[in-house]
Amino acid sequence: MQFKDIEGQHLLANRLTEIIDSGRISHAQMFLGPTASGSLALAIAYAQYLGCENRQHYPEGSVLRADSCGVCPHCRKYAELVHPDLHLVFPTTTTATVTSKPCADDFQEEFRAFMQESRQVGTEDDWYERLGVENKQGMIREKDADNIIRTLGLKSYEGGYKVLVVWLAERMNLAAANTLLKTLEEPEGKTLLMLVVESRDRLLSTIVSRVQQVVVPDLGGGMSAERRSEFAKMFVSWMRLLFKLNMQPLSDWVDKTAGMGREMQKLFLQYSQEALRACFLRTAAGITLPGELEFGDPKFDQAFPARIEPRNIEQMNEALNETLYAIERNANAKIAFMQLSFKMSRYLKIK
Ligand SMILES: [Zn+2]
Repeated sequence: MQFKDIEGQHLLANRLTEIIDSGRISHAQMFLGPTASGSLALAIAYAQYLGCENRQHYPEGSVLRADSCGVCPHCRKYAELVHPDLHLVFPTTTTATVTSKPCADDFQEEFRAFMQESRQVGTEDDWYERLGVENKQGMIREKDADNIIRTLGLKSYEGGYKVLVVWLAERMNLAAANTLLKTLEEPEGKTLLMLVVESRDRLLSTIVSRVQQVVVPDLGGGMSAERRSEFAKMFVSWMRLLFKLNMQPLSDWVDKTAGMGREMQKLFLQYSQEALRACFLRTAAGITLPGELEFGDPKFDQAFPARIEPRNIEQMNEALNETLYAIERNANAKIAFMQLSFKMSRYLKIK
């Protein structure tokens, strides 16, 4: 999987390739977000880029700053998901063919086919449907966790990173989670453990605190047109307040936002990330995606996008991500949105 094939996640892809290029690779990471928004695909693309023998870097202003080459032996094995140092674990259940003690090792070929067909954005339901067990709930069991540990203890076949991707890690039962926890406490050398997670609340907090989190933005397929236009209005008035940094009206805006409820706050933060990305694409590449840049305010539509540039887009996205984590962790929303506003105001004015 190359980043170029993952729709709508260019900003995050750029942050990921930057982390790898800088060598600050965390050995345990959590990709948190809806599978349909590409969380698994991003994790695989990340590992593919990490081991690519000929990483490609694109000129400044390109939508993607870098990507794997797609043609070296490493990339070719990743494209088929048959690289000997890539291991996939996922929830399983008994089926017509595996009638007892199922584990991910029993379903590797099936899962590879499922990933290819769904372009790695298949959902948990799609997976069970493929297994012919629509009414069952899969699980990741202790046997899977034992296999994870054994795999991580082995030498890598090709000398690079050993990569373990656990899809829907929240489906680990307690025994599996506790076994995995031990691995997280004693990181091995060149290993990369990636937990792809849709709902963090179902994971042990001791696991959550030991992995670096990558929030995968929800691509907003579920956001209604009505909500979108409501958010657009909020976004426009917020950005205007940030330019002026007029404290009283800003504080009113923050109060109102803090009163919206956490789920709405998270959606608004994601909307803001998308809106900024759309502005950036227009500024950097002259691309306007249909329907993406409709703030419903002609003056704003005209002037604002040009303020979002390579020099501030990453920082703004990062600040929004940090606030998303904070809100998820039940931080005080007023403080979180006020701090975010100060940061965003500073980034908007970078010259
Ligand atoms: Zn390559």
